Amino acid sequence: MNSKNKRLKIINGRVITPFRLIENGTILIDDGKIVCICDGDIDYPGAQDIDAKNNYISPGFIDIHTHGGGGYDFMDGTAEAFLGAAKMHALHGTTALVPTTLTSEIDDLLNTFSVYKQAKKENTEGAQFLGLHLEGPYFSMSQKGAQDPRYIRPPKKEEYEAILSHSDDIIRWSAAPELEGAAEFGREMVKKGILPAIGHTDATSDEVAEALENGYTHLTHLYSGMSGVMRRNAFRYAGVIESAFLYDQLTVEIIADGIHLPPSLLQLIYKQKGPSRIALITDSMRGAGMGSGESILGGLKDGMKVIIEDGVAKLLDRSAFAGSVATTDLLVRNMIHLAGVPLLHAIQMMTITPAQICRIDDRKGSLTIGKDADVIIFDDNIQIKTTIINGRVIS
Ligand SMILES: [Zn+2]
Repeated sequence: MNSKNKRLKIINGRVITPFRLIENGTILIDDGKIVCICDGDIDYPGAQDIDAKNNYISPGFIDIHTHGGGGYDFMDGTAEAFLGAAKMHALHGTTALVPTTLTSEIDDLLNTFSVYKQAKKENTEGAQFLGLHLEGPYFSMSQKGAQDPRYIRPPKKEEYEAILSHSDDIIRWSAAPELEGAAEFGREMVKKGILPAIGHTDATSDEVAEALENGYTHLTHLYSGMSGVMRRNAFRYAGVIESAFLYDQLTVEIIADGIHLPPSLLQLIYKQKGPSRIALITDSMRGAGMGSGESILGGLKDGMKVIIEDGVAKLLDRSAFAGSVATTDLLVRNMIHLAGVPLLHAIQMMTITPAQICRIDDRKGSLTIGKDADVIIFDDNIQIKTTIINGRVIS
């Protein structure tokens, strides 16, 4: 059901703001914004009623690291791919996402920038695009994971300045802070209002401390593609994983697909960082929302053949995971069922915390008067019943 109605009234739901739970709450929406969060029913002339049927009413999920889904990758080079992936994720509760690129040829990256602009204009049925995340190419070769090694290199100012001159849509950029030039890279990103994130890195905790001083504040997929405790000439050094717990000011994101991290690590991260410093991410590749079998990681033209089995994408030799096939509803379900996290905290990590990390919490991430009407309705098992994006009923 598509709605052109400016006014919506969602009644009869358990409202997760996500800071508290309101039993039998009502949400009023006008012209794409939330205008009231109230107890019980309330008269609202001219509104289309939506009965939540005692299900949960929640802010829409925000995925700040995804490569695609529904058979599409954001590097396929077409607007259709962006729209298809955004639509699939919207049906699973994602109302906003950050399309993420993989390490690639510069031309493919630049093409992705122009396709992004076009797709953003045409996107009326899918999760909104919050801006682009560049994952690479400034990574440590020894922590490349499924990133194509042909393109991995240290940051060069002329190069990233040139890349940035082609797009004003980049909002985050992941890099390894121990590389030569990476401190300056961090400072330059901050100057430009781009979030520098630590990722695919072999840094020591001292190098992470230096990264913090140079503007890095966020850690890309904690535990994946990063150093732990290492020994050099008998001496031990804390790595990036320990840094996540050592430095309170670092925010982290985790692939809570139930496969990349076992329940014990989900519990450890939650216990140590808490819901205000953890964002749940899918890091999904094109196989999200699809079945098992062969697939391609990255763009259709230049991607790598991978296999989807056991609910995850793997390299063909099965030596490493090659991205998740998760959707955001699954992440929330996993945090509750596998990690034993309370519902409100699981929702917090999928809504307001990612919004804060990307500094869009002035307009998204919670059911708050004046914010964008990105609202979802789901049942006790986090099965999505309704997705509303900017006050528009998508499904
Ligand atoms: Zn990724």
